[in-house]
Amino acid sequence: MSKTAKIKFIFITGGVLSSLGKGIAGSSLAALLLGSGFTVRLRKLDPYLNVDPGTMSPYQHGEVFVTTDGAETDLDLGHYERFTGIETRQSDNITTGRIYSQVIAKERRGDYLGATVQVIPHITDAIKHFILAETDVEGSSADFIIVEIGGTVGDIESLPFLEAIRQLRNDLGPSLTLFMHVTLVPYIAAAGELKTKPSQHSVRELQNVGIQPNILLCRCDREIPKEARTKLALFCNMKESCVIPAYDVKSIYEVPLKYYMDGLGTEVMQYFNIDPAARPTDLSKWKKVVNIIKNPEKEVTIGVVGKYMELADAYKSLSEALTHGGFPHKAHVNIKWISASIFQEERGKIANELKNIDGILIPGGFGERGAEGKILATQYAREKKIPFLGICYGMQLAIIEAARNIAGLKDAGSSEYGDPEDLVVGLMTQWDKDGNKILRSKKEGLGGTMRLGSYPCILTENSLAHKIYKSSTIHERHRHRYEVNIHYKSLLEKTGTIFSGMSPNNLLPEIIEREDHPWFLAVQFHPEFSSRPLNPHPLFKSFIGAALSYANKK
Ligand code: GLN
Repeated sequence: MSKTAKIKFIFITGGVLSSLGKGIAGSSLAALLLGSGFTVRLRKLDPYLNVDPGTMSPYQHGEVFVTTDGAETDLDLGHYERFTGIETRQSDNITTGRIYSQVIAKERRGDYLGATVQVIPHITDAIKHFILAETDVEGSSADFIIVEIGGTVGDIESLPFLEAIRQLRNDLGPSLTLFMHVTLVPYIAAAGELKTKPSQHSVRELQNVGIQPNILLCRCDREIPKEARTKLALFCNMKESCVIPAYDVKSIYEVPLKYYMDGLGTEVMQYFNIDPAARPTDLSKWKKVVNIIKNPEKEVTIGVVGKYMELADAYKSLSEALTHGGFPHKAHVNIKWISASIFQEERGKIANELKNIDGILIPGGFGERGAEGKILATQYAREKKIPFLGICYGMQLAIIEAARNIAGLKDAGSSEYGDPEDLVVGLMTQWDKDGNKILRSKKEGLGGTMRLGSYPCILTENSLAHKIYKSSTIHERHRHRYEVNIHYKSLLEKTGTIFSGMSPNNLLPEIIEREDHPWFLAVQFHPEFSSRPLNPHPLFKSFIGAALSYANKK
């Protein structure tokens, strides 16, 4: 316990219903604390039984966010990084499934020395251990750890998490632990009133498990009058100044500014006996970003041709990164989500769908559905000289497009679907005999078959990529099984594909470009995971710049 003696823990729970934006709430509070010069780490406890969200469908759970150390995590970790600029790690996201598998593995090894293994204390101890572990920010102990408890208070699933944080309050004391409860104050049109009862009940649920919230953050679509706040304070057993509204806003990046105005930062500091006057909050960078969002000088439209188009959360980091890419140009980025399958059904739809588009992006993806449609969209972008960015699957499909339509390998494809004669994209074990040797790298055997997390990449001088990154070595995050087959490199090079980024051992193509195109770039990694509103990713910045020039010429 001594290592964490001075760290302050803020536990965020949610009540009434899900999707109240606890992740944005925690991230925005972190932005306020950072603005006052504190260091902060955010982490999330997820109540589901999957060991990690890697196996969950983006339809159900939204995007899988990948950390630099190669963990597949909840999409809220993406918000944490975007609002704080601090890289998240495997140790920042834990699920019930992971906790149980750790405890059961220990039990099988006999580590519990014959004890009956139970939820309390064994599961709760494992949860507490996770909360208290790796609490540094870049090597130094964090001032604050903000812990988001997934799910909704009252669910059976999250009970062990609530019990663990209740115990931590006793272990660490109230001076180092704060409970913040995010709730909903709905407006009932028939009564013409805001209703506080759901919040009262969800606070009572928390009190039933021994937790008294210190701050109530009330989501609401209209102003919460003083009487309603007084009532909430009274029934929820708290100071009125600790009942803080969280109104709906146009952009999530406005939330830190709103919280600041409504006194959240001050209330948190006062709780921990910190004088807010001694820690003024500098939010000038956020103000600049919000100003651009509200008063853009230009506008551009990017067509994203993908698979999970009905659920915006499936491409959360991507849509955020595109938005960030507009900031340095003071431009608003419209995203047109296009389902790749429609091109397969009717080729003629391509020209129509992509008519008013200033840039085409093919995002990461898996499987056969929509793949051929994405290839058709890539061909269209290449031939019509429309700015093009391919990400992960988007690069693999761009390679297939070039192989088939330029290099003349009519049956080029990926072993991810079908059984192509020319395996331009495949598992490394499938490449050929030499490829087999390549796979025996030291990373193999460390888990799944995916290449996950941050890997270095060497850029070719004078390439578009080199101009954009202004550096010869970059590090980017990966999440894929298949790789562009190195044995087709020279053939593709002869027909105008530039391999401008390679793994340090020169075996894995990481970035490709086109000789005959003003802005055509495809990358094997996921740059969207490391873009931040206050520090947009250079690839997205350049892509949006190219789309703006294209729009001007049109
Ligand atoms: N499906 C491809 C692979 O596994 C690409 C994955 C992705 O786009 N993230 O290699």
